[in-house]
Amino acid sequence: MKIMPNRMDRGFQMYQQEFESKAIEVLRSGWYILGKEVKQFEKEFAAYTGGKYCVGLASGLDALWLAFRILGIGEGDEVLVQGNTYIASVMGITINGATPVFVEPDEYYNIDVSRLEEKITSKTKAILVVHLYGQAANMTEVIRIAEKYHLKVVEDCAQSHGACFEGKMTGTFGDVGCFSFYPSKNLGAFGDGGAVIVNKEELAQKFRVYRNYGSEKRYYNMVVGTNSRLDEIQAGLLRVRLSHLEELNQERSQICKRYLAEIQNPDIKLPQVQKGATHVWHQFVVRTVNREDFIYYLEQKEIGTIIHYPIPPHLSEAYAYLHTDRSQLVITEQYANEVLSLPLYNGMTKEEQDYVIDAVNYFRPSKQSNEKKKLEEQI
Ligand SMILES: *Cc1c(COP(=O)(O)O)cnc(C)c1O
Repeated sequence: MKIMPNRMDRGFQMYQQEFESKAIEVLRSGWYILGKEVKQFEKEFAAYTGGKYCVGLASGLDALWLAFRILGIGEGDEVLVQGNTYIASVMGITINGATPVFVEPDEYYNIDVSRLEEKITSKTKAILVVHLYGQAANMTEVIRIAEKYHLKVVEDCAQSHGACFEGKMTGTFGDVGCFSFYPSKNLGAFGDGGAVIVNKEELAQKFRVYRNYGSEKRYYNMVVGTNSRLDEIQAGLLRVRLSHLEELNQERSQICKRYLAEIQNPDIKLPQVQKGATHVWHQFVVRTVNREDFIYYLEQKEIGTIIHYPIPPHLSEAYAYLHTDRSQLVITEQYANEVLSLPLYNGMTKEEQDYVIDAVNYFRPSKQSNEKKKLEEQI
């Protein structure tokens, strides 16, 4: 059986009729940018999260960099962020000229809140929390520390649509909650899209101005903004998907419940969910020191996997200029070497799940790789 890491076509087929009629409705409306679909989506998404205002944008990266721009964080400022994130989180900081300060992750793959305070300097202005793989980070601790040191809090919720910490939804704790609607996300569009959730009208208005060339009134420009508008057609399709998000997240959770209960292999470390947090399973990420073997073995069984992420931002060429001290990011680098995401998508059949579970359970690392590992341990 051939199993791909993700199947976005399945997610489309589940509600094909609704998606198609919405697309046709928008096409026939004759209004394609900043119209009633975007307005409605903003209303519905804000209500879904429990936040006050939503502003639709063109991507998750735009949500991030505009958040720091609007909060006034730039050159000379430091932002704390976990070392093991997707590079877009970091670019949201550096596009503004601010400096990312990497913090080690905890065993749940989110920022280790017990290591935050030691990284705070007089230049620290904000904490960027990434709810990685779909699990909410410990926001109670993050907010406590942020208040103590007067720091802004930005949440990267690109992978956590619907995840909560102690009953409150991610994206509503900090100053700005940043969302991506890239097609593979839990709440995915059929192209690029993004949004922010904020609780202050004044902040919401700034995002509305920045996304439209810095103008509130046509041809009257207050600031140097950008073009970062969510399309009407994407907003319409997102409204359809949002109306099913709870059941979509529920389905992912059912699949992962099976993975957690039925995958039993001493060489494969399963993900854990921390107390107080919910997980919306954007990815099901396991860890093994024999990753190369494991990928090769799964490939032989036609099971596709992806590494999220093989190169941590501090080791990417783009961020060589930061000269990050690698000795401070041992766990980050270990995770980059060991993590692997198993196939997971809406519309995954029971047979496909069975096949993945069986394959993983029968995996044994080769002798060669065990010997190599022993050798490395001796060095
Ligand atoms: C997808 C993603 C982004 C970027 O979103 P885009 O819409 O692709 O710009 C940012 N952060 C994280 C953690 C992501 O997974």
